[in-house]
Amino acid sequence: MCDQCLYLIAKADDEDFLDSLDLNHAERTLMEKLYKEGEGSIADILELQGKALDEAIQELSDELAVDEKELWKVILQVQAGEFFQEKFEQAVYNAFMPLFHLAGESEAVRINEDVKWEQKNEAAAKFAKKLKKLVPAMNGTSADHMLRAFKRAIEQGKTPSERAALVKEVSKQAAKGEEGPFSMNRAVTISRTLTTAAANGGKLEGWKQSGLVKKKRWRAANNKRTRKDHREANGQTVDIDKPFRVGGENLMYPGDPAGSAKQIVKCRCTMQAVF
Ligand SMILES: [Zn+2]
Repeated sequence: MCDQCLYLIAKADDEDFLDSLDLNHAERTLMEKLYKEGEGSIADILELQGKALDEAIQELSDELAVDEKELWKVILQVQAGEFFQEKFEQAVYNAFMPLFHLAGESEAVRINEDVKWEQKNEAAAKFAKKLKKLVPAMNGTSADHMLRAFKRAIEQGKTPSERAALVKEVSKQAAKGEEGPFSMNRAVTISRTLTTAAANGGKLEGWKQSGLVKKKRWRAANNKRTRKDHREANGQTVDIDKPFRVGGENLMYPGDPAGSAKQIVKCRCTMQAVF
C-alpha cells in the first residue's frame, strides 16, 4: 500500500479513536501533542538501535557473521542490553504516563465534579510498571524479525563469503530504517498501541475515582481492520473491577498491556461507562 494511503488510514483511525474519548478541545490538542512526542522519541531510539546493531554486525568476521548463534547473541546484546532497555522504558514512561493522567482526570471530573484527580494513585503506579514490562516484549519482536532476515540471507548465499556479505547487507538495510524493526512504521505501531493502553487505562481509573461508574462496556473500533475477536467483544458489559473476556484473554480495558500482542497491537477500541 502507498505511504500516503497508510497515512490517511492512520489519520482516520486516530480521529475516530480521539472522538470516542470525549475530550474537550484543549485536552484533545494536548493528547495529540503527547502522542506525537511519544512517536518521535520512540523513532529516535529505534534509529539508534538500528545503527548500534549494524555496527556490531559489520565488525563480525565472515565466519561469525553466518553463525546463527553468534548473530542471536549480538542482536540480544544490542536490543535487550541495559542501555536501550533503560532508554526505551524512560521514553515510554515520559510519553505515555501523561496520557494516562489526562484521560483519567478528564473522565473523573466530567462524571463527578467534586472529585480531585490524584496523580499519585496506586493504579497509575501499576500502570507504569505494566508499560515497562512491554518494552522487552517489543524488543523481542524486533529481535525475532532480525534473526529471520539474517537466516534468509544465509540460505541465499552460495559461498561462505557471499553469505557473510548478504548478512551484512541485510543489517545495513535494516539500519536505514526504511522498513523493518527500526522503521518509522514500527515507531507508529508501538506508539499507537501504547496510546490505546494509556488512554483506556486512565479512563478506567478516572471512572473508579468518580465513584459513580458501576460497569464498563467494550466498544469495538468500527472499521475493516478491527479484529474479529474485538468485533465480537463489542457491547460486552462487565463490572468495573472485572476483566473483559476477549479472544480467550482477560483484558481490563482495550489495549491492556497484560494482554498478548495478538490482542493489543494497534488496537483502537474504547470503552463506555455504565452507571
Ligand atoms: Zn480492538
